[in-house]
Amino acid sequence: MSLIKGSDTKPELAVRRDLHKLGFRFRLHARTLPGKPDIVLPKYHAVIFVHGCFWHAHRCQQGRVPQTNSAFWKEKFLNNRRRDVRVARALRKDGWRVFKIWECHLSTPALREKSIAKVARLLRATQQ
Ligand SMILES: [Zn+2]
Repeated sequence: MSLIKGSDTKPELAVRRDLHKLGFRFRLHARTLPGKPDIVLPKYHAVIFVHGCFWHAHRCQQGRVPQTNSAFWKEKFLNNRRRDVRVARALRKDGWRVFKIWECHLSTPALREKSIAKVARLLRATQQ
């Protein structure tokens, strides 16, 4: 588990590659938008966050609070979750549709295909 929180992570690259293959065009890390979404699809009024399960405290194996310093991590996770909620709210208020893809849903090629197909379907279904 890498503790470096960076952009252009491997799962994110995979999502971009797959979306691109499906014909979607997008911008990256829009700094002017709340939360700097990983992927921005202006044509679809949509943004996508590829969330690391650890940092964003997903309810899965990887999102568990570490046993050491657990109070610190609980606080940290809670703050991260609150920030995610705030960011999503701000984006929706500005008319963006907000999609979230969890890293664990990209952990195998089959899961990844399923996750991305789902997002692609939702993007196209409600295109404005
Ligand atoms: Zn997860």
